[in-house]
Amino acid sequence: MHFGSRRITTAVSAAGILACSSLLAGCDPVTVIRCSVTALLESAEADSQPDDTQTVTATVETEPVDDPCDAADDPAIWLNEEDPEASLIVATNKVRGLLVYDLEGQIVSRLDSGRVNNVDLRSGIRVGGAETIVVAGTNRTTMTLDILALDPASGELSPLGDPIDPEFADEPYGLCLYHSAASGDLYVFANAQDGAVGQWRLDGDGRGGLTGVQVREWTLASQPEGCVADDANGWLFIGEEEAAIWRFDAEPTASTDRPTVVDRTTLGEPGGGRLAADVEGLALYVPPGGGARDGFLVASSQGNHTYVVYDRAPPHAYRGTFRVGGGGAVDGTEETDGIDLVAAPVGPDYPAGLLVVQDGFNYDSEGSRINQNFKFVSWADLSF
Ligand code: CA
Ligand code: CA
Ligand code: CA
Ligand code: CA
Ligand code: CA
Ligand code: CA
Repeated sequence: MHFGSRRITTAVSAAGILACSSLLAGCDPVTVIRCSVTALLESAEADSQPDDTQTVTATVETEPVDDPCDAADDPAIWLNEEDPEASLIVATNKVRGLLVYDLEGQIVSRLDSGRVNNVDLRSGIRVGGAETIVVAGTNRTTMTLDILALDPASGELSPLGDPIDPEFADEPYGLCLYHSAASGDLYVFANAQDGAVGQWRLDGDGRGGLTGVQVREWTLASQPEGCVADDANGWLFIGEEEAAIWRFDAEPTASTDRPTVVDRTTLGEPGGGRLAADVEGLALYVPPGGGARDGFLVASSQGNHTYVVYDRAPPHAYRGTFRVGGGGAVDGTEETDGIDLVAAPVGPDYPAGLLVVQDGFNYDSEGSRINQNFKFVSWADLSF
């Protein structure tokens, strides 16, 4: 692979900033200016993309979130196995709460529960005797881990027991769920910007909801966020934003002393890794009917607006890099935070699976910067 030939340029025009500002009527003008200036600085700082970078386009983009600046953050896909086209995407607006989108990108429901940063879900969980879609999020307003149920018919979210107090010194930040194939137990992992990582087992609370019992805690050297658990293999992948992706054993009795490094944020350095800091969202491509080692790990390489693909199986060999480019009705993606991925067919538009990615710089058809949103990509458009 040759490196460094393509410099990223993301035009943020003065007209775009003005349009952005006018769209934000009622918003604090200082916030609007800060949003615009930050956008210019961010786009100027982007790192280079590798020469082997594939480019795909998004098929759908969601309605923007309700707030300006850096607000959209992290998605979680619920696959409706009986009617894949009725699948739903739960996503965070990290200054307001949660949104639920349909596959057209339309908002189905909102829950203004506070500054929820990351979200994840697992379906088919028995809670109070009923099969439940369990959703978990890190709420920075209430400083809790919120456990919710997603109603598959209405798309509404509702509390599923009392929120968990993680007792972090910092705000709860990254989050992912782990449904252990070994024990059948459901766990939530959450982390904080000071490096703290915790794991809680979600048990029935005797009132039809779930309650969290902390089973482990440890510390990373610097700020983590994105994480994803491999339920079949018992692995936790976690991103330390300016450093690396680590793999820990996800079982609660395992040692956290010697994690495996998957890759480092040393793109462009001699012998360096494939990631440009920050490493952000992580997701797994787990093909239905495949073996426990089949599939991929995908990471948002935020510093160069790309996504990096690795083997799911150790030693997690590099498979390639891709970006979501513009050129269609939907703009490309830049500075992505959270991502999620389902490997099963999700209706005719996503025959090999659906990738959902946050877009840091969302433009309308006139090229004006508007509130952030999420883009949907067909995995069949990529080759790994
Ligand atoms: Ca962001
Ligand atoms: Ca997520
Ligand atoms: Ca982050
Ligand atoms: Ca974009
Ligand atoms: Ca984030
Ligand atoms: Ca757009």
